[in-house]
Amino acid sequence: MQFTEFSLDRRIIETINHMGFTEATQIQQQAIPVAMVGRDLMASSKTGSGKTLAFLLPAMQRVISTKALTKRDPRVLILLPTRELAQQVYSQLRLLVANTRYKAVSILGGENFNDQAKALAKDPHFIVGTPGRVTDHLFQKHLYLNGLEFLILDEADRMLDLGFAPQLRAIHKAADHRRRQTLMFSATLEHDEVNEIAAELLKEPEHILVDSGH
Ligand code: ADP
Ligand code: MG
Repeated sequence: MQFTEFSLDRRIIETINHMGFTEATQIQQQAIPVAMVGRDLMASSKTGSGKTLAFLLPAMQRVISTKALTKRDPRVLILLPTRELAQQVYSQLRLLVANTRYKAVSILGGENFNDQAKALAKDPHFIVGTPGRVTDHLFQKHLYLNGLEFLILDEADRMLDLGFAPQLRAIHKAADHRRRQTLMFSATLEHDEVNEIAAELLKEPEHILVDSGH
């Protein structure tokens, strides 16, 4: 299945072409249509199978094609367990937003807190971050999540192994409204804490499990 077969905005297709991709991977083929119709998702596939675009493309499509719920709140929040993983996702997101009028910021632990507060004050549409630092800004009221449309938890099993369950719950609570969609990705679905958090945060999720990569 080719990317042109999803009903994606021309600007998104252009960026994918620039990345050099034409065929969607298995996880992308299964996750993108489900996310695009607004359903919550609990998905697992092996490392290197293309999960990042599986969530970035539907999120970008929604932002481009619908009106924001609020003026200043981020529309998409993507959480990852480590700085390195967040930077990898942020670099793909930057390519996608570069072709649009939308703004993205990364909010990572270990970087300057005040600079991040200033970046948040510019009302970015997308935030990629690590749970600890994002909740710090939430509690400092540098960030409001009432208008959040997509909460994406990537590498959820690792976030929980690192002890981020309280932060995930706090973020969920701050963004707990009917219009929010939640996408959760995990290396394994057989993880008690992953299933516990999924039961709390996801609404009637579609489960997707891809065994092989491409
Ligand atoms: P995962 O999160 O599942 O480990 P990534 O999203 O990091 O995987 O993608 C792994 C690599 O595959 C990245 O270099 C990415 O750019 C590339 N990739 C993603 N989608 C495709 C595709 N449809 N065709 C070819 N390469 C792709
Ligand atoms: Mg990944």
